[in-house]
Amino acid sequence: MNPQQITVLGATGSIGKSTLDVIARHPDRYQAFALTGYARLDELRALCLRFRPRYAVVPTEVAARQLQDDLRSAGLATRVLQGTDGLCEVSAHPEVDAVMAAIVGAAGLRPTLAAVEAGKKVLLANKEALVMSGALFMQAVRRSGSQLLPIDSEHNAIFQCLPSDYQRGLSKVGVRRILLTASGGPFRQMPAAGLVDVTPEQACAHPNWSMGRKISVDSASMMNKGLELIEACWLFDAQPAQVEVVVHPQSVIHSLVDYVDGSVLAQLGNPDMRTPIAHALAWPERIDSGVAPLDLFRVARLDFEAPDEQRFPCLRLARQAAEAGGCAPAMLNAANEVAVSAFLERRIRFTEIASMIGDVLEAESNTAADSLDAVLHADAKARSLAEDWLRRGGR
Ligand code: NAD
Ligand code: MG
Repeated sequence: MNPQQITVLGATGSIGKSTLDVIARHPDRYQAFALTGYARLDELRALCLRFRPRYAVVPTEVAARQLQDDLRSAGLATRVLQGTDGLCEVSAHPEVDAVMAAIVGAAGLRPTLAAVEAGKKVLLANKEALVMSGALFMQAVRRSGSQLLPIDSEHNAIFQCLPSDYQRGLSKVGVRRILLTASGGPFRQMPAAGLVDVTPEQACAHPNWSMGRKISVDSASMMNKGLELIEACWLFDAQPAQVEVVVHPQSVIHSLVDYVDGSVLAQLGNPDMRTPIAHALAWPERIDSGVAPLDLFRVARLDFEAPDEQRFPCLRLARQAAEAGGCAPAMLNAANEVAVSAFLERRIRFTEIASMIGDVLEAESNTAADSLDAVLHADAKARSLAEDWLRRGGR
């Protein structure tokens, strides 16, 4: 059998590199068809030299010309494309079998949707795309017959714990609740007063996972769990009230499904994203991911606690947006992206991330998310309100 052709959107990122690590272990099964990058283009060049993809995609014309020249002089036939059109082209290309959607943030929405609309197998890491456009995204999945597989470790765990016919509806298959685990992030035990002064370096030092900077800050604020709650509602057709967040500091249980007969199924493993990536790539088969076997004697204990929405108000804001529906999740996501960048640039305090998002959501009325234009409009509006907030320095 010919190897499957895989497009890796966001190949230079944390998920992108883990994906290429798994692909490299199985050259007989998978081949990198297209690799994309946005910054650190020297790394994209090195990845191209190693994986020899048919296409590479970079953000600008200048960068495309430079990379094209470099790759040509190294003897590669890789074609370099540019911008969002280039990303959409390699997502929907007729020869592609699966697309790893691992661009961070709203920038991944169009290329991920292009993969869905082309009926590809889509491995979804880019949770922001689904959070923004949930209803449209899931409609497109149903319309095209695209196979959507979650890469987020929690959602991949839930997928593994659900019966294969879960799409009939959670209550029909006897599911009472989804238990979404959260590590609690680096500030799980920090008193509220201490959160005011935490730095980007502290926020990005996650105790269990090594990830990109944006998702690391989201984990520290627990907005990541809020986005994941919305993600779970769309992926599994759940109501927000059916998803309970459970803080589990060891990150060994990746999530659980609670059934009406009292059975609770969990998926466990070392905290290494190559497990969900390998699971989704090979599904319904299983392949080696390079992850060490779980040593329960070393883990020794599993702890659980309730999340603290006083110290981590982002979780509450996300639940409210999930309940409000419409464009509220898109606005929440957009305001959060602006707030996280501002925090990483030291323009606002960590605790102002939630204040800013709360203010933006209050200032802007919710609209129906019935077209991509409506979603992109809400995203742009929330970004501009968030920028105003920054210029004013708060309320
Ligand atoms: P990262 O910052 O390490 O990588 C992001 C990738 O996206 C890079 O390749 C970057 O070049 C590209 N990119 C950034 N901005 C872009 C733009 N405007 N246009 C095109 N490409 C752009 O991030 P990551 O940690 O790999 O996370 C990627 C996605 O996966 C995020 O949505 C994140 O929430 C999700 N995710 C990550 C992890 C993890 O362990 N890292 C776990 C679960 C989910
Ligand atoms: Mg996750």
